[in-house]
Amino acid sequence: MSRISEVSVGSLKVVALRDGELFLPAGALVNLSEEDSKTISSDESNRLAYSNVNAYLVQNNDQNLLIDSGCRDLFGPTCGFVQEALKEAGLAPGDITDIFLTHLHPDHIAGTITADGSAVFENATLKVLDKEYNFWSSHDFNEIEVNGADWANLAKAVLNAYKDRMETLTFDSDIAPGVSSVSIPGHTPGHSGFRVDDGRESLIQMGDILHVPNLQLIDPNVATVFDIDPEAALKSRREVLDMVSTDKMLCTSGHMLDQKFGHLEKNGSGYNFIA
Ligand SMILES: [Zn+2]
Repeated sequence: MSRISEVSVGSLKVVALRDGELFLPAGALVNLSEEDSKTISSDESNRLAYSNVNAYLVQNNDQNLLIDSGCRDLFGPTCGFVQEALKEAGLAPGDITDIFLTHLHPDHIAGTITADGSAVFENATLKVLDKEYNFWSSHDFNEIEVNGADWANLAKAVLNAYKDRMETLTFDSDIAPGVSSVSIPGHTPGHSGFRVDDGRESLIQMGDILHVPNLQLIDPNVATVFDIDPEAALKSRREVLDMVSTDKMLCTSGHMLDQKFGHLEKNGSGYNFIA
């Protein structure tokens, strides 16, 4: 099955790169109904807690902007295929001119470096939001926390590998012409989605407000243990889903399943995703 799917937004091409897929265990989910929790734990064929890991490529005439980079070999054999997806899109690592990271969690950043910590994309400038940079590089992290020392050390290794060609961005600055970050706080302090706007056409990538779309679109209260500020993350999820459905925006997100691009339609207290 193809690892890429693309849409045009005006003159810009946006390609979703499927790094892989995985199932989240019930223990990684919160606010789960007892019934769903039972189904996830006992019925192996159910897809309630199914997730994809996606990176994105935004192309204009001059730039190949990679957004996020997949999880390399950190989350098992079903993930870590961003290089294959790029190849399918006709690009080699050296063709990437810019990288933007929506946040510094391992499933979004590990693919930017090799296991020994060197940069994979030798010609790319790395763009990171200042809030996210500051959070991961200036705190002391506990060994046992989810968002702990392991993840912080990986974030620091990525920042270090690109330190000679790195730019920190504020939320109101452009990532590339027609591409801008969208502040979605909660999942991490500098957690971001991105927008692509050209002429009258727009796309929003909603970051990590959804990890298990089959559950969270029906009940947006369902969350994961990966949110650093759970209350803010829930508020962000509700606001972004509401805005995207009200404004009838073309959308996608970091863990969207196939199909990758579509619209949200309100359905009771949840949403339908219409590809
Ligand atoms: Zn993620």
